[in-house]
Amino acid sequence: MKDFVKMSNLSLPEPLNLIGGEWKPAASGAEMDVISPIDGEVFARIADSDKADIDAAVAAARDAFEGGAWSELTAAERGRLMIRLSERILENAEDLAQLETRDNGKPITQARADMKVTARYFEYYGGAADKVHGEVIPFQRGYNVEMHREPHGVTGHIIPWNYPAQMFGRSVAPALAMGNATVLKPAEDACMTALAIARMACDLGFPPGAINIVTGRGEVAGQALADHPGIDFISFTGSPEVGQIIQQSAARNFIGCTLELGGKSPQIVFDDADLGAALPVLVNAVIQNGGQTCSAGTRVLIQRGIFDEVCGLLKAQFEGVSAEASDHDDAKLGPLISAKQKSRVETYIDEADAPLMARGRIKDGAPENGFYVAPAIFGPCDPKSKIAQEEVFGPVLSIIPFDDEKDAISIANGTEYGLVAAIWTRDGGRQQRVAKAMRCGQVFINGYGAGGGVELPFGGVRKSGHGREKGFAALHEFSTIKTIVNNHG
Ligand code: NAD
Repeated sequence: MKDFVKMSNLSLPEPLNLIGGEWKPAASGAEMDVISPIDGEVFARIADSDKADIDAAVAAARDAFEGGAWSELTAAERGRLMIRLSERILENAEDLAQLETRDNGKPITQARADMKVTARYFEYYGGAADKVHGEVIPFQRGYNVEMHREPHGVTGHIIPWNYPAQMFGRSVAPALAMGNATVLKPAEDACMTALAIARMACDLGFPPGAINIVTGRGEVAGQALADHPGIDFISFTGSPEVGQIIQQSAARNFIGCTLELGGKSPQIVFDDADLGAALPVLVNAVIQNGGQTCSAGTRVLIQRGIFDEVCGLLKAQFEGVSAEASDHDDAKLGPLISAKQKSRVETYIDEADAPLMARGRIKDGAPENGFYVAPAIFGPCDPKSKIAQEEVFGPVLSIIPFDDEKDAISIANGTEYGLVAAIWTRDGGRQQRVAKAMRCGQVFINGYGAGGGVELPFGGVRKSGHGREKGFAALHEFSTIKTIVNNHG
C-alpha cells in the first residue's frame, strides 16, 4: 500500500461517501477491504454503506435538484463545469490510470486509454448540455404547442467493476448534462477512480448534491438505491440477473430504467475477409480487459472454406499470449477482477463442451495470489453448446464454423443476447444485408469497437438489456418530454 501511494500524486480515496458535497463515513461506521487483483492484497478500504446512507444521498440529490445551487445553473454553466472536470481528468490521467490498474487489474496501457475516454465523456456531454432543444409543434389555429425536454429529477446509477472510471463518465455525465442530480453506487470490487474523480468535481465547484457517491455491497446499498421511492429514473450496468431485479424495483416505483447487461457478441468472418486486418481484432476480444467487457466479440464465426486457415493463424497468435502483472507498459493481459471471477472462468474452461483449440499461459513470476487465468480458445463449437451460448466474462473465445450468409445470420442471432456484432467481408452487398439482419444494438463492418465510441449510441436487445447510452441517445434517456399546449385564441 505504501509503495502505491508513493507512485501516485493522488491520495488514495478514504472510506467515505460523498453526500450533499460532504465526505462522510457510512452511518453505521462499517468499512470493507479493497483487494488488488494483481497480488490479492488489501490496498485500501471503502465505506460499507446501507439504506441510511442511500436515504441521505437521495435526499441531498433532491435538495440539489429542487431549489439547490445545482438547479440554479444554466445549461451552459453545467456544461462548462463538466468540461473543466474533463480537463482535470486529463491532467491527472497517469495517476488515475495507476489507481485503476491497482484496483481493477487491467493493463496500465488500457487504463490510460480508459482515462482518455472518461475525460471525453465529460467533454462530449459538457459540450452538449446547452444543445438539447425543445420543439414547436404545428397544431390547430389559435394554439401554440411547445415540446420541452426536461430532466427526470434524481437519477440513480449502478455500475460494474470492469471499467470503473469509464462507466462513471458514461452513466453520470449525460444525466448531469440534462440537469439531473445523481446518486451513484459503484461496484464494491473496483470503485477507487470514481471516488477520485468525484473528489475532483468537488474541488472544481460542482454544487453540493449534484453528484453523490455511496459505496457498498450490491445487495445492500445497490438494492436500497434501486428500491428507493425518491429516485425518478435508474440506470444499471451489470449482469442480466441483477438487471431483472432492478427492472422489478423500477416497476414498483413506476419509473423508467436503462439496462446495459451482458453479451455473447459474434464476429463473422467471411471467406473474402481481409484476414490481416481481422486477426488482431479477433484476438483482442479476449485480451482487452481480460475478456471482461460486456461487448467483447467472444464468438468468432468462420466460413468453412477458410476455417482451418483462420484457426491456424488464431492459434499461432494466441499461444504467445500470457497473463501477467499488469502494472508495467508491456503487459497485454492482466488478472481477472476477483477470486470469484477467476473460479467462475476456470469452471467454464474445465467444463467446456467443445474441443480446446489453444491455450495461452500464465507468465512465470506472476504474483502467486493474483487472479490470473491462462486464456483459452475452444472450437469447432456447436453453436448451441454452453461455451458458445453463455457469457464467460473472461479470456475465452468460442470458434464456430458456418456455411453461407444465411447460416451465419442464424448462428449470430442464435443466443439470448444481442449487444454488438462485427462483419468481416469485402462484399458491399453482403455488408448491408448482414448488418441489417443482426438483432443487436451496434454493428461494426470490417472493424470492432468494444469500449470508446462516446458518440455512438450503445445498448442491447433481449438479455443484453434495453435503452441506449452514449451519443445523444443517452441525453434522451436522461430526460423526459413535457408538451405545453397554449390556447391563445
Ligand atoms: P453485477 O450485476 O453483480 O454487479 C453490477 C453492479 O450491481 C455492482 O455495482 C453491484 O454492486 C450491483 N448489484 C449487485 N446486486 C445488486 C442488487 N441486488 N441490487 C442492486 N444492485 C446490485 O455484475 P458483475 O458480476 O459485477 O459484472 C459482470 C456482469 O456485468 C457480466 O454479465 C457483464 O456482461 C455485465 N456487464 C455489462 C456491461 C454493459 O455495458 N452492458 C458492462 C459491464 C458488465
